[in-house]
Amino acid sequence: MDRFEHYGWPFFDERHRTLAAEADVWIQGKLVEDGNADSSCRHFVRELGAAGFLDHCVSATPEVRSIALLREVFAYHHGLADFAFVMQGLGSGPIVLAGSEAQRKAWLPRVARGEAIAAFALSEPEAGSDVAAMSCLAVKEMNAWKINGTKTWISNGGIADFYVTFARAEEGISAFIVDAREVDASERIDIIAPHPMATVKFKDSKAELIGEAGQGFKLAMRNLDVFRTTVAGAALGFARRAFDEALVRAKDRPMFGKKLADLQMTQAKLADMATGIDASALLTYRSAWIRDVKQTRVTREAAMAKMYATETAQSVVDAAVQIFGGLGVKSGHPVEHLYREVRALRIYEGATEVQKVIIARELLK
Ligand SMILES: Cc1cc2nc3c(=O)[nH]c(=O)nc-3n(C[C@H](O)[C@H](O)[C@H](O)COP(=O)(O)OP(=O)(O)OC[C@H]3O[C@@H](n4cnc5c(N)ncnc54)[C@H](O)[C@@H]3O)c2cc1C
Repeated sequence: MDRFEHYGWPFFDERHRTLAAEADVWIQGKLVEDGNADSSCRHFVRELGAAGFLDHCVSATPEVRSIALLREVFAYHHGLADFAFVMQGLGSGPIVLAGSEAQRKAWLPRVARGEAIAAFALSEPEAGSDVAAMSCLAVKEMNAWKINGTKTWISNGGIADFYVTFARAEEGISAFIVDAREVDASERIDIIAPHPMATVKFKDSKAELIGEAGQGFKLAMRNLDVFRTTVAGAALGFARRAFDEALVRAKDRPMFGKKLADLQMTQAKLADMATGIDASALLTYRSAWIRDVKQTRVTREAAMAKMYATETAQSVVDAAVQIFGGLGVKSGHPVEHLYREVRALRIYEGATEVQKVIIARELLK
């Protein structure tokens, strides 16, 4: 299966094919294995900024196809490269969408150059899937906003330079920029595939309102409307890598006087994996194409893509582990790493169950 074949589909132009090919070569020259998620992430942010790739996700006119295909290419090679790339976009998106001229000038060029690290702080210990249950409070005192409360599961927590933070004000949920010096992000969270992450505590933390008070929830959803489809892009990258690894192994591994790939049960696995990958790619780039070309909201399409591609990637990676046998669970093996890396995608930016609720709501309208 040609990993770039789908860029010949009508969803794409020549420039997308060029971008994917360039990114694929570029990222292979930037891979690091220093075992430290913080320094690896800083390295990728810096390099992605210097090479101009971050301009795609820190943009007033984001193109979902480019962001999704870059995530696909980066995830294929390194989960943290994908993570570093997308968090700069997700964490600065509300400033792009509704920030003042001064806020845009202060942060966006630095974020796009990889000189400032962004974070997106929405989830709380008691408000994950149920975002509206958030309890972080924002109060305006003498023209200055202050935030109190706790956010958790915050990607880039502990290494970010600023946190785009959502908190409840008198007018409703509102979005703010909070400088990293205003928060306590010392409580780090270790997850199965190491990523910089923390619980972030706000205590009378000075905050700058983004846009109008009370518009934060809409802003968060508009931001996710761009980035949700791209989670499916990352899932595709993981799935393709697992498939490619498994295919090589199945063709090489001697078994019962033949090769593992000669056995029909292996062939069935490979057929299911490849079909799932193609179906995921179709859903992903359909959603991206509609958003880019038709310029309409893609609530249903993005939810379908995110749900299907992440669930499929999980099963593709699992099948790859099975094809590798014991090697598939050996620490440090590429498919073992993918197995840990892919799991969180079914949870963040709306768990699969949340995507089902969204799809059904759209269908029943
Ligand atoms: C790797 C990673 C990175 C993250 N990065 C960020 C970040 O940068 N910023 C941020 O704000 N948050 C981030 N999150 C948090 C993430 O968005 C939440 O974990 C997610 O929204 C789920 O919330 P929760 O963990 O509180 O689980 P809960 O809300 O407690 O949900 C638990 C489970 O309930 C199920 N569920 C949900 N809705 C329904 C339903 N209607 N019916 C039945 N079952 C349902 C789902 O299976 C879900 O997994 C990150 C999480 C992870 C794992």
